[in-house]
Amino acid sequence: MFWAHKIADEVERRYADKIKSGEPIVVRDEKTASGKVHVGSLRSASLHAITADVLRSRGVNVNFWFEINDFDPMDGIPSYLDEAEYKKYMGVPLCNIPSPEAGFDNLAELYGQEYVKVLEQVGFGASVYRASELYRSGVMNDLIKQALEKRDLIREIYYRISKSEKPADWYPINVICEKCGNLSATKVTGFDGENVTYECSSDTIDWAEGCGHSGEMSPFDGNAKFPWKLDWPAKFVAKGIDFEGGGKDHYTKGGSRQVAEAICREVFEHEPPYGVFNEFFLVGGKKMSSSKGNAATAKEMAHILPPHILRLLLLKTPINRQISFDPEGDAIPILFDDYDRLAEKYWSGVEDDDTQLFKFIHLPDERGEFPQRFLPRFSQVAFLVQMPHMDIYEEVAKMKEGELTDLDIAELDMRAKYAKQWLREYADGKFIFELQDSLPEIAGTLTEEQKVSVSKLADKISETDTLDGQQLHELIHEVKDESGLSPKEFFSTIYKLFLGKESGPKVGWFLSTLDRDFIVNRLRLK
Ligand SMILES: [Zn+2]
Repeated sequence: MFWAHKIADEVERRYADKIKSGEPIVVRDEKTASGKVHVGSLRSASLHAITADVLRSRGVNVNFWFEINDFDPMDGIPSYLDEAEYKKYMGVPLCNIPSPEAGFDNLAELYGQEYVKVLEQVGFGASVYRASELYRSGVMNDLIKQALEKRDLIREIYYRISKSEKPADWYPINVICEKCGNLSATKVTGFDGENVTYECSSDTIDWAEGCGHSGEMSPFDGNAKFPWKLDWPAKFVAKGIDFEGGGKDHYTKGGSRQVAEAICREVFEHEPPYGVFNEFFLVGGKKMSSSKGNAATAKEMAHILPPHILRLLLLKTPINRQISFDPEGDAIPILFDDYDRLAEKYWSGVEDDDTQLFKFIHLPDERGEFPQRFLPRFSQVAFLVQMPHMDIYEEVAKMKEGELTDLDIAELDMRAKYAKQWLREYADGKFIFELQDSLPEIAGTLTEEQKVSVSKLADKISETDTLDGQQLHELIHEVKDESGLSPKEFFSTIYKLFLGKESGPKVGWFLSTLDRDFIVNRLRLK
C-alpha cells in the first residue's frame, strides 16, 4: 500500500466522528525561517502535504496550515550572512532581525517566503501563518498562564521523560527584553498571575548577550515565547491540530515529541494530534553538500527537478526510510526512468501501489486522464542535446517509430530543458559527450586487434542498405563475437573513436544517429 494511504487510514480511524460531522481535519507543518531552507525540510513538507492531499482525495474536509516560524531566536549565523553584522542579533526573535535583502520586512520573511514559494511550486502549498502572529493574537495567552502556574508539573515531566533537570526557580517561558529585544538572554524570576519579573543577562546562556536590565512585564500578547518542548504542544492546542508529525530527531526515546505529548495531555489537558516521523533526506555529491551558498537547499532542488519528478523523489520512498540523492551521478536519469516505468504501468491499466503513487506524484490540478505520450529516456535526451548536428525531434521520432504529437513534443522539450541544466550544473564528467570532428588522440592507444575489428565493422556497415539502431546493434554484436575481444575492449574502441572516451550511450542507437560515411571513415581511422 502507498505509505500515505496507511497514514490517511489511521487519521480516518481516529477522527471518524469528526470527519462524519464534516468538521475539518487540521494538519500542520512548520519551519523555522532562520536561513535558506535545507532540502531535508521537504520531507516533513511531503509528509503533511500528501496526508492532507490523500484525505482530500477521499472527500475529507482538511485545513492544512504551514507556519513560518519567525518567533524563534537566532541561534546561529548562516555562512552567507555577515557575521560581524549579525552577531548582535543572537538570541533575538527572527521577526525582529533585519533582512539582508531589500524588499522583506525581516530575516524570517526573506527565507520563509522563499520556502513557501518552493512548497507552492511542488504542489505542497498550505494556508500560511506566522508564529509571531499566533503569539501576538493572544491565542497563546491562556496556555502561557497555565504553563506558568503548573511549572512544577512541567519540571517533573521534563525529568520523568527526558531526564532533564531544571532548577527549582525555572519558569517555562522567555520574555523579550523591553530594553534590548533579546529573548534567549532573559530569565523569568517570578509570576503573580498577571506579570512576570525578569532579568536580562549574559549569564543566562553562552551564545546570547543580555543588557543587564531587569523589569516586570506581561508575558502575554507576543511579549514572550515558550521553549520548543512547550511551544510545540501549545501550538497543537492553539491551532486544534489533528495530524502533525516531525523529523526523526524529535521522535527519539525521551525526545521532544514524547515531552510535547505529555505536556499536551497533563498540562494543557488536551489530546495531542496523531503523528508519525519522517526520515532524513541526504544529499551527496561535491556540489550539493558544500556548506556555502545555494548547495543543498529546497529551492535548488526545485530548480534541478520538475515538480512531478521532485514529488516522485519525495514520495516513492516510504516516509520512515532515508532518501539519499546525488545529482552528480545517475540519480536524475534513474528518477526519470522510474517515472517512465510507473507511467507505462498506469497506461496499461494496472491498478496497484505504483499506479497510486503515479497519481499522487502529479499536482492535484494535473490529475485526471494523464493522456498517453511518448517518453524518451532521459539519458538518451541528455545525450542528444549534446550533439549539435542532430535534430532532437527527428531522433526521438525515430525512437518512437512514428510522428511526434503535441504532447510528445512538450514532454521532450521539458526533458531537454532539465537535461541541459543537469549537464551544465551537476552531471559528472562521464555524462558529458562531444562528438569528435577529427580522429581523437586517444585512437593512438588502440591495439592491432581493436583496429582490425572496427575496420571489419566498417566493411559490414558500408554493405548495408539501411541504418537503423536494431540492425546496427546486430551487426556490431556479430563483429564483436568474431573479434575475440572482450565486450569492454570492443565497445570502448568505438567510444574512443567517436567520443574520445571509454564509454558512452547504447552503441547501436548511438551510431544510428550518425551519418553513414562519417561512421565508415571513422571506423577506418580517418
Ligand atoms: Zn536586555
